[in-house]
Order: sequence, then C-alpha cells, then structure tokens
Amino acid sequence: MAAMDDCLFCRIVAGDVPGEIVHTTERTVAFRDINGQAPLHVLVVPRDHYANAAELATGDPETSAELVRSAHAVAAADGYDDYRLVFNTGAGAGQRVFHTHLHVIAGRELSWPPG
Ligand code: AMP
Ligand code: ZN
Repeated sequence: MAAMDDCLFCRIVAGDVPGEIVHTTERTVAFRDINGQAPLHVLVVPRDHYANAAELATGDPETSAELVRSAHAVAAADGYDDYRLVFNTGAGAGQRVFHTHLHVIAGRELSWPPG
C-alpha cells in the first residue's frame, strides 16, 4: 500500500518529518510519542498505511503481529515487564492520527478503567 503524502505517520516513516525512532523492523517503525503520557510512551506503526488496527489485521496479519512483538521489544529494552498496549480506533475512542499505531505505555502506575 502506498504512503500517503498527507499522513503524518507515513511522513515520519519516510523520514520527511523527524521522529525519535527507538526501534525498527522490516515492517514496523517505533518512535516516541511527542506528548508522552508516561516515562515510556512509544508508538509502533506499520511502514505501510492502514487507517486502523482492524484494517491492518485484515490486510496484513503478519505485520499486525509484528507490531505487538515490536512493542514488547521496546518495553523490554527499557526494562519494563509491565506495560499497556492501546489501539484507539475511531475519533470517538480518541484516535487522532488515522495511520494505525500501537501505543506502548509503561513506567508508572496505570489505572483501570482508562479515561
Ligand atoms: P491517537 O490519539 O491514538 O490517534 O494518538 C496519536 C498520538 O500521536 C498522540 O498521542 C500524539 O501525541 C502523537 N503525535 C502527534 N504528532 C506526533 C509527532 N509528530 N511525533 C510523535 N507523536 C506524535
Ligand atoms: Zn500513513
């Protein structure tokens, strides 16, 4: 699937917009959230553009799994056994960037249910 010129995360993947990249694989890129909500807050994205997690899981299941493996690697690299993974899907659930991204959040007490 082609990169989209007007997609912020496609542009970070392409290197056209700077991102603090912490981990990469053949299919994924992980970079720090610009507005981190915890000591560790990283977004893991597929290199290819998919609007949300379900579209990625349908269109490219192997990359969908790789997002989770990458997220685990990011947390483990910083020494975190406990972490939260979040896919916001749809504006009503808080999705603001419509290139799917897996939030990896760790390093503080995380309450439940989320806000
Ligand atoms: P969501 O609300 O789930 O769509 O998450 C989008 C996330 O992208 C938010 O947590 C933002 O802080 C983050 N974000 C927005 N712009 C950038 C950027 N240029 N670099 C890194 N993270 C960003
Ligand atoms: Zn994109």
